[in-house]
Amino acid sequence: MTSSHMSRRTVLKGATAASALAATSRELLAQSSTQGTRRPAPLPPRREFVIRGATVLTMDPNIADLPSGDVHVRDGAIVAVGARLNARGARAIEGRGMIAMPGFIDTHWHLWTSLFRPFVRADVDAVGYFPVSARLGQLMTPEDSYRSVRLGVAEALSAGVTTVHNWAHNVRSPEHADAELSAMRDSGIRGRFAYGPAQGMPDDQVMDHAGLARIKRDWMPNDGMLTLGICSRNVGAMSIGGGARGTLTIDMVKKDWGGARALGLPITVHTSGPSPIMQLEDAGLLGPDLQLVHPLLTTPEEREILKKRGVSYSTAPTGEARRPAAVGVIQLGELLEAGVKASLSTDHTTNYNCDPFVAMRVLFALHQHRIGNKIPLTVKRLVQLATIDGAVDLGIADKTGSLTPGKRADIILVRTTDINMTPVGDPYEALVSMAQPVNVDTVVADGRILRQAGKFTALDHARVVREARDAAMALRDKAKWPA
Ligand SMILES: [Zn+2]
Repeated sequence: MTSSHMSRRTVLKGATAASALAATSRELLAQSSTQGTRRPAPLPPRREFVIRGATVLTMDPNIADLPSGDVHVRDGAIVAVGARLNARGARAIEGRGMIAMPGFIDTHWHLWTSLFRPFVRADVDAVGYFPVSARLGQLMTPEDSYRSVRLGVAEALSAGVTTVHNWAHNVRSPEHADAELSAMRDSGIRGRFAYGPAQGMPDDQVMDHAGLARIKRDWMPNDGMLTLGICSRNVGAMSIGGGARGTLTIDMVKKDWGGARALGLPITVHTSGPSPIMQLEDAGLLGPDLQLVHPLLTTPEEREILKKRGVSYSTAPTGEARRPAAVGVIQLGELLEAGVKASLSTDHTTNYNCDPFVAMRVLFALHQHRIGNKIPLTVKRLVQLATIDGAVDLGIADKTGSLTPGKRADIILVRTTDINMTPVGDPYEALVSMAQPVNVDTVVADGRILRQAGKFTALDHARVVREARDAAMALRDKAKWPA
């Protein structure tokens, strides 16, 4: 199904088929907006090009890194990786002074909260991330969701993230779900949409499986960029986030997850508090289609079980490092030692920014601080966690996560000639210890060049900013914030 078919299907309600079919998909998309303002610029085409002379980090164990290599891309796919490739006719992109690597894969991010920056304080609990998002989230229109997700995706792309797991635990209506998916599609990023219950939904109410099935029908499969799953409310007693995100009994978990699994969809759930792993194991609910988030309080026995069941764990170090030690420390070293699948995530950007380099840096620092060489953790291993391991976590390692011929072309170029990077030595050391999002020069997703020379090629930066701000201010008025 093409993207124009998808947008057509989602807006047919209320329009006659004849008139709908006569309109272009972009016009239809605008009609579907609550404010009639959605007219995304078309995404750049997938052209043929070859990156020349870059430091190529393939993240593929079978393809060696190249100190000076080329990456040839055609029709959205990687055709070849090597030195001095013969790619006649392909447009050359200068790679000298750059690291060419797979785009980062962010495996847990609540993009719908991106608008809340004016309201959230890192140092004032009463207006922390949880109370603000729980309160304002209940006032959001589909257009707010669209703008918030688009803002978050714009930041992701700016930081070199080419795949995002959109953890959407505020699907307030079918239109909210369509809006979030539209924002992802319109931005050109790859990702999974994890459909979740709305903020404030009663714990004894089963999630909307009919709505989920409708999304699957209308949006999946698509051009390969978007996949679908669910995000679950919390399981058992929670010490972080409180009631804002629900706390389900095992009986309710069986109902929510059972409906998703009946549709063949994967599941993600936060474990922000006493570990629910033994409860889930006893209920037979653990499996390779499950991702847990925030590895803080697992026991050695639980980690053995996670490995055996093929469950993955996403760590969001920038936020987790701010939590009191009483609710656990980031157990990356323990997970890796036990052989549990792990990946990296941003979580949200309300009181810090998206920065995969800082995520790796924080993890490295905390690992050295607490564990050190008892469990070796290399800088290369951290880059793997931020790329190929994220693809494994999301079940799309056949498509992305490494620079492998045949995979889709999700590639970033990181400048090594900037002041904070130069003179560059080991490229992995530079990425983990030195790099910042501002060094990300070029971002390619599925062969489309979405950013070049640090600027969007199609996305209207000024408009994204303006419309996000307008939506945030309207939400503030609606909530009579901060009253
Ligand atoms: Zn989260």
